[in-house]
Amino acid sequence: MVDVSTSAAAFSDSLPSAHFIDGEWRKPQSGNLMETFDPGRAEPHARFAAGTAEDVAEAVASAKRAQRDEWRKTTPAERGRILMRAAELIRQNAERLAIAEVLDSGKTLGEARGDVRGSARAFEYYAGAADKHEGKAFPLGPDYTSYSIEEPIGVTAHIVPWNYPLSTACRSIAPALAAGCTAVVKPAEQTPMTALLLAEILVQAGLPRGVCNVVTGTGISAGAPLVSHPDVRHVTFTGSTVTGINVMKAAAQNVASVTLELGGKSPNIVLADADIELALDNVVGAIFENAGQICSAGSRLVIERSIHAEFIEKLVARARALRIGHGLTEGVNFGAINSAEHLAKVASYVEGAKARGISIATGGNVAVDPATGKGWFFEPTVLDDVKWDDPVVQEEIFGPVLAVQVVDSAEEAVEAANCTDYALAAGLFTKDLTRALRIARDVDAGQVYVNEYFAGGIETPFGGNRRSGIGREKGLVAVTSYCKTKAVSIRI
Ligand code: NAD
Repeated sequence: MVDVSTSAAAFSDSLPSAHFIDGEWRKPQSGNLMETFDPGRAEPHARFAAGTAEDVAEAVASAKRAQRDEWRKTTPAERGRILMRAAELIRQNAERLAIAEVLDSGKTLGEARGDVRGSARAFEYYAGAADKHEGKAFPLGPDYTSYSIEEPIGVTAHIVPWNYPLSTACRSIAPALAAGCTAVVKPAEQTPMTALLLAEILVQAGLPRGVCNVVTGTGISAGAPLVSHPDVRHVTFTGSTVTGINVMKAAAQNVASVTLELGGKSPNIVLADADIELALDNVVGAIFENAGQICSAGSRLVIERSIHAEFIEKLVARARALRIGHGLTEGVNFGAINSAEHLAKVASYVEGAKARGISIATGGNVAVDPATGKGWFFEPTVLDDVKWDDPVVQEEIFGPVLAVQVVDSAEEAVEAANCTDYALAAGLFTKDLTRALRIARDVDAGQVYVNEYFAGGIETPFGGNRRSGIGREKGLVAVTSYCKTKAVSIRI
């Protein structure tokens, strides 16, 4: 455990402040550095390279050369071995990665350790996939042989958000590398460190130079030139819907494909016959983990009227028992909001709710770390019995704010679940299997979790419908995003 006041500073001094391009640390061509903040103290903790289009061009050129001359020619089995070594090295470096993640993002050390475990698992899973992505043969009749090959699509761009910096990067980089693609990664300007540490680990695992490059900087200065670069053939973007639309437009100029993982306003349906204690545990985890900064957070509770009052009373007690504080402080299980700007956004949604007379069952205020009086925090908040058309039901707050919708039947619960423009995830708590299967059928969502919110793993496809995104990550389906199918047909 790090002593937050002193050891964190020494730790931050050991972090990189350059891009990782062509297998080495490269200073930004502009010579400029930016600051990254520790949200748990609301203070800068490290500096990093402010990337520009010139740095992006170097990284894409390196990735293009590495793809053409090296990675494409590496056997799939060897690619898999390198990815497996990467998984081992991520595990060996777990504590360094987790602490860097806490200091950049504000999450708790326990959450960050879980993210690192998931990141290693992504490399392990796609290591196994590297030599199993097969083509097909087509029945044109006895006079032809016709088959397809899954070729790597080329240079891929990975635009990463600040809420799950390492695990989001790994879940898109690993399948791209498994497919034989090379990568240029642009982490969020709030959380650049773990992507840089990962790139160094990948080279230690045996990845040839240039196969995975990291350019840090803002979305405008480094992200936009990357997603519009003519040599980038696929963009995987995770972040807000507004930016995702711009990224899709930029990629369209080069007819490059995209995977977009965007926002959500996911319902968590609790029916009257549910196991109430189980549902409570899951409703709390679904909205208060990572202080609610999760695209697939269960940010709406859709609950049957007959159990509403009792459920809210118990939920409030659990929310109040969460311990707010700096992510590196022992015993803390509720971390910070990532930035001052984002904290202001979360607070303004709750202020708006208060002004409209919405009942605040618990929370509702900006907070600080009680140990230091510092940091960007927001209390775990429950807004009770909200009208379906209210902004706190319709819009993504991306913070620890749960909006409750009360319904009178399972049928009405489905209507409530489907009442926003988002369609990322949905949770459901019931003991009735038939109802569970019907609701799973009728809810519009990329993933439905029954009796365990966030159930699933790297094996399970993940993505959204409508304004929540396009394409799927995770699972074997993710590898197909990084492949182009070539059909070869021969007259014999
Ligand atoms: P954002 O979408 O603007 O940023 C995400 C990533 O995109 C960052 O790496 C950023 O540098 C990059 N980026 C920004 N503009 C770009 C551009 N024009 N071209 C290429 N890359 C660009 O998200 P934000 O501003 O950090 O947060 C805004 C809101 O987005 C949040 O309040 C939240 O609602 C939502 N969000 C969602 C997710 C998610 O996982 N779905 C993650 C983070 C934020």
